[in-house]
Amino acid sequence: MPTLSNPSEIAREALRLLASRRMSPSPDNYRALYHEIAGTPAHAAAPFPERELKALLGSLPTDKPAQQRLARRFEQAFKGKSWDELKRGLAELFAQLSKEQDLPWSELFGDFLRQWEGKQLGLTLARKREALARVLAGGAGNSELLFTRLQGLVKSWSLNAPEAEEMPLVEGEHAAAASTTAAVGAAAADAASAAAARPTSESSAELSEELREVFAYTLDVLIPTQLLDEPELAADARALAHKIRTATSRPAMDGLQASVKRFAFRLELLAEDRAELRNGLLKLLQLLIENVGELVVEDRWLSGQIEIVRDIVAGPLSIRSISDAESRLKEVIFKQGQLKHSLNEARENLKQMLAGFVDHLAEFADSTSEYHDKIEVCADRISNAEDISQLEDVLAEVIRETQIIQLNAQRSRDELRAAKQSVEEAEKRIGELQAELDKASTLVRHDQLTGALNRRGLEEAFAKETARSQRRKSTLCVALLDIDNFKKLNDSLGHDAGDAALIHLTTVIRETMRPQDTVARFGGEEFIILLPDTPLEDAQTAIVRLQRELTRRIFLHNNNRQLITFSAGLTDFRPGDTQITVSKRADEAMFAAKQAGKNRVMIG
Ligand code: GH3
Ligand code: MG
Ligand code: MG
Repeated sequence: MPTLSNPSEIAREALRLLASRRMSPSPDNYRALYHEIAGTPAHAAAPFPERELKALLGSLPTDKPAQQRLARRFEQAFKGKSWDELKRGLAELFAQLSKEQDLPWSELFGDFLRQWEGKQLGLTLARKREALARVLAGGAGNSELLFTRLQGLVKSWSLNAPEAEEMPLVEGEHAAAASTTAAVGAAAADAASAAAARPTSESSAELSEELREVFAYTLDVLIPTQLLDEPELAADARALAHKIRTATSRPAMDGLQASVKRFAFRLELLAEDRAELRNGLLKLLQLLIENVGELVVEDRWLSGQIEIVRDIVAGPLSIRSISDAESRLKEVIFKQGQLKHSLNEARENLKQMLAGFVDHLAEFADSTSEYHDKIEVCADRISNAEDISQLEDVLAEVIRETQIIQLNAQRSRDELRAAKQSVEEAEKRIGELQAELDKASTLVRHDQLTGALNRRGLEEAFAKETARSQRRKSTLCVALLDIDNFKKLNDSLGHDAGDAALIHLTTVIRETMRPQDTVARFGGEEFIILLPDTPLEDAQTAIVRLQRELTRRIFLHNNNRQLITFSAGLTDFRPGDTQITVSKRADEAMFAAKQAGKNRVMIG
């Protein structure tokens, strides 16, 4: 068979052979005959389906940089008609697709839960819920979009998470500001989400975009929360944030640098002013406390309270120490007001009574001296009388003067009786006032002997600390301490020694535990300690340390060295607990500690 080279001749010959060999006219048979006639190998490369592939791949999305890169690769592959290149491109495309479909949801949910439960400056739970609802609505029906937006949200929350454990919560006067800044925060969170959602391994340009957004967010949201009383500066911070987001050219960036420097300088000045203001206020407070102290030196309890307040103000300040100082000062003011009222009344009564008495004495003295003078004159006249008729006159005068003085004496007696009555009334009134004061003193929050919180104070502290621990999702531990063999100490050294021992224990507790721990006298020789933000294990270590410290600082009374020990029950506040249930558990654990031989800590 002659070798044909013209393709149309080869094709015609192939068709002829198909018919003469009675082969079915399938494309494969035709192709085999074609190669046989042309003398080319039957497995030669199939024609490159450029048009079809182009149409197919042209419908792929190109809105992401990675997708655009792929599209360019396909273009190159088509140009070079390279199957291999096309194959590699398709493999990459599928790898990318499956990667995108296989989004790391579990990781994202882990992060989400951490941020949802954590605290972020300026974000309340309600705000977070709102932002989440918007993300869910925006990403509905598109899992990839939802993933990206959710990731952005979580990232923006994490930017707001406080680093320090003691970050103050948004409460009280900050609440209003927080709600407005949180609104800005939610918007900024959306804006941040695009930048934040990108994988960190992307180019440094993208990283700097992220940093730019973080910086803008700091100025837009975080700094204004600190500038509530400086609205102008807060507005400048927001304007600067806007500039940061929009400045892209080199000159704009240079201008921005100068603005940021100026702004930082103003912030620095403000911080200095605030520090000065704070010191000034503290000095003023100290002065005030010292002067109140001078006024109440007569009352042992009040001056003790004042001293405690003075110590609190002198020490490192915290929200708790300030609120403790406030509650103690309130008590002083309250009690002082009561005492002043009753004292003034008693003084007034006494003054009136004394004035009446002095007047009366003066009158009485006048009238008696007059009487004496007159009687003396009468006596003279009697001794000089020459007849009985003269004596009659003198006697009549003596009788008259004596009657007058008798009347005066009676009046004096009546007046004295009245004065006595008014003293009794004054005493009664003071008694009533004292009773009122005793009743009102149930409003007092501190135990008068030891200065620890009393039951009422404990109730308040409990409510505060449990709410706080629930907000912060932190552990609150409760320890109940009962002094061992306290009755024996009372019996052997006397009740005063017992009192001094209670004061000694309170002092050691206060000086050994952390300032944020609360000490309350629960009953006679029982104390409760609240340990906020403390895992059970650490609380146990703290109470054991307190035991050791109490052994080291031996109690001395009238040169009697007395070892004081206590048994303690320790537990943590659990969901559904109340003050009663948690105290009961601590009490049972304390009882177990007593049963086990005292001077130990048991966990309940
Ligand atoms: P235990 O080791 O089992 O706890 O024995 P205890 O002796 O410590 O306990 P008990 O409950 O038998 O006695 C407590 C005593 O504490 C009885 C009471 O007289 C005394 N007490 C309670 N309040 C005061 C107080 O304010 N001052 C003084 N000095 N003693 C007090
Ligand atoms: Mg007891
Ligand atoms: Mg006891």
